[in-house]
Amino acid sequence: MSSTEHVQTIEQLARPTPLLIRHSPYFIGAAIVVALAASASFDGYILNILMQATTFAIAVFGLSVVLGLCGQINLAQAAFFGFGAYAVGIGTADYQISYWLCLLAGCIMALLAGAVLGMTTLRLGGHYLAMVTISFQQVVTLVMINAIWLTHGPDGVGKIGRPALFQSSQSYLAFCVAMLALVGYLVWHLPDTRLGRAMRAVRDNELAAGVNGIDVFRTKIYAFAICAVLGGLGGGLFAGGFAYISPDQFSFAESIVFLTMSLLGGVASPIGSAIGTGLLILIPEWLRFLKSVPGLYLAIYGLSVILIIRYMPDGIWGFVTTFFDRFRRKVKLPAEGLPLVLAPAKTGGEMVLEVTGLAKHFGGLKAVDDVDIAVRRGGVHALIGPNGSGKTTTLNVLSGLYEATAGRVLLDGTDVTTMPPHLRAAAGLGRTFQNIRLFRSMTALENVIIGAERPGNTLIGNGGEAALTLRAMAALAFVGLGPRANELISSFSYGHQRLIEIARALAANPTLLLLDEPAAGLNSTEKLELHELLKRIAAQGLTILIIDHDMTLVSEAAQHITVLNFGRRIADGESMAVLRHPDVVSAYLGTD
Ligand code: ADP
Ligand code: MG
Repeated sequence: MSSTEHVQTIEQLARPTPLLIRHSPYFIGAAIVVALAASASFDGYILNILMQATTFAIAVFGLSVVLGLCGQINLAQAAFFGFGAYAVGIGTADYQISYWLCLLAGCIMALLAGAVLGMTTLRLGGHYLAMVTISFQQVVTLVMINAIWLTHGPDGVGKIGRPALFQSSQSYLAFCVAMLALVGYLVWHLPDTRLGRAMRAVRDNELAAGVNGIDVFRTKIYAFAICAVLGGLGGGLFAGGFAYISPDQFSFAESIVFLTMSLLGGVASPIGSAIGTGLLILIPEWLRFLKSVPGLYLAIYGLSVILIIRYMPDGIWGFVTTFFDRFRRKVKLPAEGLPLVLAPAKTGGEMVLEVTGLAKHFGGLKAVDDVDIAVRRGGVHALIGPNGSGKTTTLNVLSGLYEATAGRVLLDGTDVTTMPPHLRAAAGLGRTFQNIRLFRSMTALENVIIGAERPGNTLIGNGGEAALTLRAMAALAFVGLGPRANELISSFSYGHQRLIEIARALAANPTLLLLDEPAAGLNSTEKLELHELLKRIAAQGLTILIIDHDMTLVSEAAQHITVLNFGRRIADGESMAVLRHPDVVSAYLGTD
């Protein structure tokens, strides 16, 4: 990045140009396209294709949110599309209700259905989620076909109304294009909002998302509900556009078409969704001349989809962005960094962490058994023990990834024993992982921003984008990686990835920092650097509980040591005394 791209002062970064002004080129462009759609005189055939493409694209944008951003599958998008379409269809044709009210009702129904479906199934994840969404899709289709009194069954609904303002097909198309532009704008900017970042974090690494303060379950529900409401909106617009709808337009097969559109174009971006939608509507039209040979048309169609997905797993737009890095969005970095401030909260007494009688059993295996740990405020406390002695399991129970079999955990005076990980993070618990868990599709800066926006972090001012960026940059500069903030995680060495994980935890301004073998996998130079870094962190008064095998590091850095062996605490106390303890010596070196 050249220096001209740097923002020159912190003030400039803190006072960005208002969003609407910054993005005015987009809206001017969109207005021109809408004007063209309104004024051009397309023949009916072209008009129908464009109407279908615009309304489908809105539904496919929904999939780019739920699948692309949040990594959750939804095989019922046609059902949500149907909610909108039938609300507008039945409402305007059978009950003469205003188009706008019907469209709104359709969106709300889709939203509620999506949220309820999400709440009941998103804890399952993976294959179960796929199966439940398929079942939901089938139920909706059955209702459309069989609830004849309401939906007219297989006959479908005709004479669907449009708003008075957009009676002609041309003007209605312009309206759909305007809606598409608006939704596209929102979906395009979603990834850079707090919610969007949370979705990407959940997609990349659920465990790391949770311990960084993200409510994983709620984030998934939001993603699912947004997807559903965009399905409903697309469907409502579709019904007005074609004036006739029938159940076969909202079947499982259509859900697969929506999914293919998003995968083909590139599920990670609305641009990809738009490309995929356009192609899958146009390709069948282009191949129409083949329809004289039965089967050939379908074969070529299927083959081209398979080839594209096989050779461009991230879709067409994903392919483009991988090859042309400049399409990747980059944040302007402040030229001068602020020093990292750590101001750990102090609500409890002398002990930041009080663990009593902690146990974690896996079936018959007592991985952790009746362990007490008391971590003094402002100190470095080491947790050591041979491989498999239960150190990582202890940390996992402390951070809420595992439910404790028995025992009690007090964090800064608060009982956190039964809290989920994101609430423990909010209560001031930060951690890193033995096997690094970063958000791999994001930049170093984005990773650390997620740390910085921990609920309860008092050092991010108004919590705005600029304040978060400054905080994250300070943390990255603290570990020596400031200038590389805009690089993707994959371009960092293993040692540097460890540092980014530490920076992510520091940016959150935790009350207690848990470090699980931060020196594992580092070479000797990197270990020395890490050692220095830990000293600088401890000098700021942050309390640290560290797991490490390096006895030199442990004896120098830690004032207090707890030793585990076979899940039980075998020694605990002041460092030098513990390291000379005969049980500790024999656990590490063998009895003789
Ligand atoms: P350490 O970090 O001290 O090397 P761990 O806490 O990772 O040890 O593991 C302690 C014991 O618990 C080991 O025997 C390990 O196999 C077992 N263990 C850890 N996690 C699980 C799990 N999720 N399911 C079953 N056993 C586990
Ligand atoms: Mg371990």
